[in-house]
Amino acid sequence: NRQILLVSRPQGAVSEDSFRIVDAAVPEISDGQVLVRNHYLSLDPYMRGRLNDAKSYADPQPLDEVMIGGTVGEVIDSKFDGLEAGDRVVGMGGWQLVSAQAGNSLRKLPPGLPLSVFLGAVGMPGVTAWIGLMTIGEPKAGETVVVSSAAGAVGGVVGQLAKARGCRAVGIAGGPEKCRYVTEELGFDACLDYKAGDLYARLKAATPDGIDVYFENVGGEIFDTVIRRLNPFARIPVCGWISSYDSGALYPIRNLPIILTMRARMQGFIVSEHLEHWADALRELGELVAAGRIKYRERITEGLEKAPAEFIGLLHGANFGKQLIKLI
Ligand code: NDP
Repeated sequence: NRQILLVSRPQGAVSEDSFRIVDAAVPEISDGQVLVRNHYLSLDPYMRGRLNDAKSYADPQPLDEVMIGGTVGEVIDSKFDGLEAGDRVVGMGGWQLVSAQAGNSLRKLPPGLPLSVFLGAVGMPGVTAWIGLMTIGEPKAGETVVVSSAAGAVGGVVGQLAKARGCRAVGIAGGPEKCRYVTEELGFDACLDYKAGDLYARLKAATPDGIDVYFENVGGEIFDTVIRRLNPFARIPVCGWISSYDSGALYPIRNLPIILTMRARMQGFIVSEHLEHWADALRELGELVAAGRIKYRERITEGLEKAPAEFIGLLHGANFGKQLIKLI
């Protein structure tokens, strides 16, 4: 059973040296567990935080253990009532080909949609978009919703959900190709390339009525620029701050008093702490994806051994769409 372990904590930017590939025996399962052959591994920005030995909402990834990670796969053996060989499941199988997992930690997947979508638009990133937008953003028809990392797994869903609720959706993404995809494929009203210079002037033109909801994925200078366009009583779901994850360097936010003058509400959230909304979110996301009203894009890289390099790329925008590793 091929696995990838974390063997050292990065000082500064993460490098492939922090990871090691090993071959281990296929695990024995005990009562209540199932054995899963993982088909796809999800690579996600939150993993960068787990590499640090720092106070956060979750414990650090232990050294010399299999890297955590979301997976979809097929049950190959079961000692858990309710799951049997052949069932398709999503869970936290980690960076490995086969995993023994507690049966009650797995969600059995419905037929109809491709397996990989349950790690993206109809999985944790999609649910993140739904929970942040619906429970903190509270968009109303006619309002303007802006989202950063708009070509990504979370951001792409945010804008499409906003459109489905009758809002104007404006994305921010890195590069003309990603911006073209966000408007032409995902149907946003506008998308701004933050690498093209003078973001504020272009944002002003794209948000003539100001901004009612800003769904934050990246933080830093983009946050500092976008909040200048906030309307009174704007809502800001703070989902991510990826611009500083790898370097640790924090951009000084100069315009923060706007939160006061616009009486804006800004709230961070962690998707795994809102289990009460998952069923509603997954139902709507599944329906919208099946109906073609939520579109998504995946970057699928074959081979577990590619995971460290692809993970590093994800932190710096090398991915275009949901980053996955195909394991079989
Ligand atoms: P994405 O698919 O959006 O991939 C990450 C993207 O971040 C890159 O492609 C890149 O896009 C962008 N990026 C990287 N560095 C910068 C930078 N310095 N400035 C601007 N953009 C940058 O990842 P996800 O959709 O999975 O995650 C998006 C965000 O949501 C992350 O911050 C993540 O931590 C957060 N998240 C939070 C959750 C929660 O519970 N709060 C749960 C899941 C995700 P580009 O090429 O456009 O720059």
